[in-house]
Amino acid sequence: MAAGPYFSPEVETLERSDLDALIDERVRYTVQYAAEHSPFYRHWFRENHINPAEVRVHEDLLDLPIISGKTIREHQPPVTPEFEFLSTDWNNVFSIQETSGTSGTPKGFFLTWDDWKRYAEKYARSFVSQGFSDKDRIVVCASYGMNVGANTMTIAAQRIGMGIIPIGKCTFQSRILKNYKPTAIVGSVFKLLRLARRLSDEGMNPSETSIDKLIAGGESFADESRAYLSELWGVPVYNTYGSTEGTMCGECTQISGLHVPEDLVHLDIYDPQMKSFVKDGECGRGVLTTLLPVGGKSGMLLINYDTEDTTVVLSRERCGCGRTHMRIVNPQREAETVWAFGNPFNKADIEAAVFQTDSMAYLTGEYEAFVYDGDKPEEVVFRVNLECFNPDGIDRTLVKDRFISRFLKYKSLIAEHYHDGSFQIEFKFTGLRGLDFFTHKGRPKRLVDRREH
Ligand SMILES: [Zn+2]
Repeated sequence: MAAGPYFSPEVETLERSDLDALIDERVRYTVQYAAEHSPFYRHWFRENHINPAEVRVHEDLLDLPIISGKTIREHQPPVTPEFEFLSTDWNNVFSIQETSGTSGTPKGFFLTWDDWKRYAEKYARSFVSQGFSDKDRIVVCASYGMNVGANTMTIAAQRIGMGIIPIGKCTFQSRILKNYKPTAIVGSVFKLLRLARRLSDEGMNPSETSIDKLIAGGESFADESRAYLSELWGVPVYNTYGSTEGTMCGECTQISGLHVPEDLVHLDIYDPQMKSFVKDGECGRGVLTTLLPVGGKSGMLLINYDTEDTTVVLSRERCGCGRTHMRIVNPQREAETVWAFGNPFNKADIEAAVFQTDSMAYLTGEYEAFVYDGDKPEEVVFRVNLECFNPDGIDRTLVKDRFISRFLKYKSLIAEHYHDGSFQIEFKFTGLRGLDFFTHKGRPKRLVDRREH
């Protein structure tokens, strides 16, 4: 058994056959627990004529229906009198969380302390796989709110013996770095990018601070923007993917996909167009099932829950780090994906085209893009606004050429329409803070579809 260190070595390095046996045991227990404790699943099994005792192995989950965020909203107040997903007595609930999602109505989420311990276990494994130990001190820029991210990381840090600086946002003063000498920061790619710029403006070189690694999470990003961020700070950048529903996956130091903690959450990949599950290596939506250890309890569990994030299973072979748990591609939000001429493109595809090495001499990396109907039917206009350090001093041809060639690289159908003129790409170069989203509150919308479908 190579590499390490591990947070839970026995389970993280289990041989595939033993891991599958453990997963199957937990599938049986979890399904039974859901049938006994969750009013929603009790009805769901009955309505779909499923005998819970016949769900024996993880492959059996593929025959069950899929539920979504909409299903949760339809089984909580005000639609139903009770929270039908709640699967324990109220007096066992340690915390109540909410996830907003895209539709705006928050989903109630109930966690017992056992649930928190399992959530923290997932992040603790991820941190250790990224080289963290009790010698680290980490600035958490993720927000401490109704979603679980920052709190889960904090509990995980306690398990590892790591120090925490719980700032909750990336707009902190540079004295935090100077005085407390943290070794790592958790934040989103763009927040870490802006922080680096601010430090430079104050005369500090980000690569000369005490920071020796960065953890990027909270949204999907392109390899290109990660590479740029890594260069700016002079440290490795590792990716995490987490949600209040319980997916906490992390990239290890091998940077070859995110490990899924398979003994605690089961993930299948589903194609909503085909209405079927897909094979490893094919893209689809992640569908998760909570896995409870035998005898475990949970405030809210999910079986066959559509995350609405798309991903690909990269490998179930042992990783270079020694872990056997499967690895997936960084999930992308379906809500941040747009289709044109039969090709999907995501925010991350635009980001990859923006963060081209030569272009970054002129660009800050901040961008926004809009899709419009063209003047004629069957025409699509793709408008990209790019923030520049100095819009008058930039090589526009270079930036446009680099953008277009990277953007069209893996999109053969859009490329055909670009070449015959029915997919038009327009650019606008703005000065600092010249993008539309700077005038709006909240998370920047970087890809907006304004077509009238
Ligand atoms: Zn690994």
